[in-house]
Amino acid sequence: MQSIQWFPGHMHRTRRQLAELLPKADAVIEVLDARLPQASRNPLLHQLRGPKPCVVVLNKSDLADPEVTQAWVTHWKAHDLEVLPLVATDAKVSRRVLQAARALVPPRNFRLRPLVLLIAGIPNVGKSTLLNSLAGRKVSLAADKAAITRAPKRIHLDEETTLYDTPGVLWPKLEDQHDALLLAASGAIRETALDLWTVAVGAAALLHQYYPERLRARYGIAGDGPPEEFLWNVGKRRGCLRAGGVVDAEKAAQVLLGDLRSGKLGRISLQKPPA
Ligand code: GDP
Repeated sequence: MQSIQWFPGHMHRTRRQLAELLPKADAVIEVLDARLPQASRNPLLHQLRGPKPCVVVLNKSDLADPEVTQAWVTHWKAHDLEVLPLVATDAKVSRRVLQAARALVPPRNFRLRPLVLLIAGIPNVGKSTLLNSLAGRKVSLAADKAAITRAPKRIHLDEETTLYDTPGVLWPKLEDQHDALLLAASGAIRETALDLWTVAVGAAALLHQYYPERLRARYGIAGDGPPEEFLWNVGKRRGCLRAGGVVDAEKAAQVLLGDLRSGKLGRISLQKPPA
């Protein structure tokens, strides 16, 4: 497998910005991808947050396997974390995040001194979507592009709540090859330097482990052999062929990853909590 790029400069900047912002916040909203909660978690936030109250949002739970999401909730609750499965696109349920955060903060008159929240998470987990749902309007967030720097943004959600977004890039742990594979397979992060075929082979292996019946139902292939062979057969069945009738590996990879990301294989979780 190719090695993954790492951005120490950006991490350094993010660390500085988080260290500046955290003392101003009453609580943190850490947004994760429910399909891969651990892989979409950045340990830097966890380290810097210290004892500051935190609501862990398992977002995109509409795409994740509900049983596995529940297992994550149980797992983290046992570690004293406040965990909330969420669909950030739904404005009604998004408000629950504010209630959960407020419940963690010592009571006071929030009209006099508004609740200050910090929202953080790796790119693409749904921070902007959640923010728009919470604000009830379109509020732009930090562009999660590596080269962009700007001041932290402060948004007044309502009379009692102010929210900071994290301006830096809270990059996922791309140095962990398995996490990088999960992030790439789910489509969360495209810039992992893993080629499409490698990602699809890894995804096929995981899907065979967790959801073999879904693969059989969709592609009509048992897939007991190596994942490469399975993908090859998917390509053949779906007519992903190049001149001469040879399977086009990249197209075959795209079929599987496209089906996985668009939910055509059903609600899938790529990562389970430790037993
Ligand atoms: P950010 O980079 O963390 O701010 O992520 P965005 O808010 O830009 O969301 C990334 C993508 O995920 C967008 O296409 C959103 O529409 C989608 N998205 C966000 N939340 C959800 C959710 O709860 N369910 C689903 N299915 N998609 C979501």
